[in-house]
Amino acid sequence: MALPGHRRTSSHKRRRASHFALKKVTLAACPKCKQPKLQHNACNNCGSYSGRQVLKLDNPLEKKTTKTTTKSTKPTKASKTTASKKKK
Ligand SMILES: [Zn+2]
Repeated sequence: MALPGHRRTSSHKRRRASHFALKKVTLAACPKCKQPKLQHNACNNCGSYSGRQVLKLDNPLEKKTTKTTTKSTKPTKASKTTASKKKK
């Protein structure tokens, strides 16, 4: 059975624990939509990185064609109302 070879002193524990603190996340403003985003990451709001569109987003502002095709059937009326509620 494995046992610790030596007792960990309080100073040993505290020296190790000095690296346990979480670091604050630094956010930068997106150059396209001005929303805060992680640095060196694609923007979650508009999906752009360094001036290019790299993410396909389901934003109603970005892509209306996919939503309009789904709205043609009957059960989409409920989803349409929920979508309008989400906007408010
Ligand atoms: Zn953005």
